[in-house]
Amino acid sequence: MEKIKMKTPLVEIDGDEMTRIIWKMIKDELLLPYIDLKTEYYDLGLEKRDETNDQITIDSAEAIKKYKVGVKCATITPNGQRMKEYTLKEMWKSPNGTIRAILDGTVFRAPIIVDSIKPFVKTWVKPIVIARHAYGDIYKNTEMQVKGNAKAELVVTDEDGTVTKQLIHNFKTPGVIMGVHNIDESIESFARACFNYALDQKQDLWFSTKDTISKKYDHRFKDIFEELYENEYKEKFKENNIEYFYSLIDDIVARIMRSEGGIIWACKNYDGDVMSDMVASAFGSLAMMTSVLVTPDGNYEYEAAHGTVTRHYYNHLKGEETSTNSMATLFAWTGALKKRGELDNLSELVRFSELLEKAALQTIEDGVMTKDLAILSEVENKKVVNTRQFLIEVKKRLDEIL
Ligand code: NAP
Ligand code: MG
Repeated sequence: MEKIKMKTPLVEIDGDEMTRIIWKMIKDELLLPYIDLKTEYYDLGLEKRDETNDQITIDSAEAIKKYKVGVKCATITPNGQRMKEYTLKEMWKSPNGTIRAILDGTVFRAPIIVDSIKPFVKTWVKPIVIARHAYGDIYKNTEMQVKGNAKAELVVTDEDGTVTKQLIHNFKTPGVIMGVHNIDESIESFARACFNYALDQKQDLWFSTKDTISKKYDHRFKDIFEELYENEYKEKFKENNIEYFYSLIDDIVARIMRSEGGIIWACKNYDGDVMSDMVASAFGSLAMMTSVLVTPDGNYEYEAAHGTVTRHYYNHLKGEETSTNSMATLFAWTGALKKRGELDNLSELVRFSELLEKAALQTIEDGVMTKDLAILSEVENKKVVNTRQFLIEVKKRLDEIL
């Protein structure tokens, strides 16, 4: 077979630890033999981020703005322990946070569903997609520790010098405060992305906040969604026989558990972070989840929803065999290649990506899987394979269907 040609480069963002190893295996076994892969490469491995004072992270986000499609490997967000492990100059911020702050947008996370793996929640028969606002709130916060006997205030100074103040708390004893923000424009583009995605998928959209407690902040989110829905989307939703439903987050959480799925659940940034991990785990595993950031100006960044799987990586370094699930990372690649193909009118690239996904799903249906799935799968005669063997098995099936 002649290798598939590409037109525009894909922004390739490499990462850390076990996922970095999987990244290379996927390229070597499943992509490079079939595609004349054209990428612009950014190494976001922690050493390189430290060496470039994190400029490389900013550059990678700018590259996505330029080329419109990127694929990102999981990366370490350093903490105190990583500072020592990598002798870092600084405790660099979360690369995902930095990239999302530059690109803005919404992260859509959907479970990768396999017949032989049943969700832990018995009623869920259809996927639940989490749409997570990717800008602001505590991910762009300002925090302080306060000593006792101090007055903390919110102060806003307008362009013309007008000052508005509000008391946060009169501290008698030590405590903490935090300032967070969001921007109407970003909330609106979040709402728009969710409404469009719901129409595209022909699925109901649920949105939740805590507006009874946060009467200004969360209420603003609710109002912006409501206004946009009434003015631009209500008719289209009716035509497509789908529903937009707003409720308090506690109510939605309870309803989700009782639902049969088939819903897009729009969440504020923090809610989406936490709830997508819960939903993914309930559908089986964090490694069985796709994740894509869609920006207001139509750029796409595909990634895995899980981390760098540190525990497996340390075993790998000790020379021990690992059985790490590569599905989410593989689907990040196929998602990005498919989108690149769509934008560049390369039907062969789109087709290849779809067949690769099919081969990967077939492998698990056939009973060949990594350790994490073996406890979940209902297939008889399971064969648990190591990290590389799984990809080789996918390749076998890919070659058959090609
Ligand atoms: P993690 O890498 O997601 O792994 C947590 C545990 O989940 C693993 O130890 C493993 O369980 C299981 N797991 C996750 N992905 C798996 C896979 N593909 N196959 C099989 N099992 C999998 O989370 P973490 O250990 O909390 O974080 C590790 C590093 O990743 C941290 O430095 C963190 O900053 C970073 N992180 C990055 C991203 C990102 O870039 N998107 C997201 C989250 C965390 P067992 O050990 O029981 O097998
Ligand atoms: Mg998370």
